[in-house]
Amino acid sequence: MTAPGTPVLRLESVRKSFGDQLVLRDISIDVPAHSVTALIGASGSGKSTLMRCANLLEEIDDGAILLDGEDITDPRADQDAVRRRIGVVFQAYNLFPHMTVLDNITLAPRRVHGVGRAEAEAEALGLLERLGLAAKAKEYPDRLSGGQQQRVAIVRALATKPRLLLLDEITAALDPELVGEVLAVVRDLKTQGMTMVLSTHEMGFAREVADQVCFLDAGVVLEQGPPEQVFGDPQQERTRRFLRRIV
Ligand code: ADP
Ligand code: MG
Repeated sequence: MTAPGTPVLRLESVRKSFGDQLVLRDISIDVPAHSVTALIGASGSGKSTLMRCANLLEEIDDGAILLDGEDITDPRADQDAVRRRIGVVFQAYNLFPHMTVLDNITLAPRRVHGVGRAEAEAEALGLLERLGLAAKAKEYPDRLSGGQQQRVAIVRALATKPRLLLLDEITAALDPELVGEVLAVVRDLKTQGMTMVLSTHEMGFAREVADQVCFLDAGVVLEQGPPEQVFGDPQQERTRRFLRRIV
């Protein structure tokens, strides 16, 4: 049992270098259950690396990352078990092109979680239904619009019932008119209490959906707080400059 109040995700003084480039310096962030954390910052500030570290796709050099209070960066941690508790969606739709929507979604539940086909498909269809995509279950990804593909990618991440969703610029590759339908899904997940960390250049959306905003600048969390504070009353000149440039 996890003690009440334990954050779903905790980064403690996380440090990460690539070669001699320090990409994350002393990053500490708590992500409470049922909350949304938005990572904002210029390209190259470290947002993707932070999420890749949280999903153990990258090894950190110092500090610790805790999932439900368990140190997942401890070498003795079961990495596969950790990854099963975290759903990830990236910028480019990374659906398997040779598999139908339904097979894309049911692959992990069946292969990794040992769920039977009938149960996995029923679950997947329920999720697709909720997102208005039930008619696409038997289609191949290339028959779907970018927005539909990204919504399927979200369904696929949800199919394993993750504790935490990491969404890395999931609308960045979409035509502007398709962004809204994907953001609507995130909004919907928030209403249902999903714990999420997302990076985005959609500042209006970050402001609306996030409980906490972290502004990353060259691998440092320069500013961190509720959206009203970070967007409405930024304390750092660099934050103000970034927001002026992007909004
Ligand atoms: P963001 O997602 O905010 O754009 P990234 O986390 O992708 O930033 O990148 C942060 C920095 O780390 C950049 O300078 C980038 O070039 C560098 N970087 C990211 N991944 C690697 C890698 N695998 N090898 C070397 N450098 C990397
Ligand atoms: Mg990135």
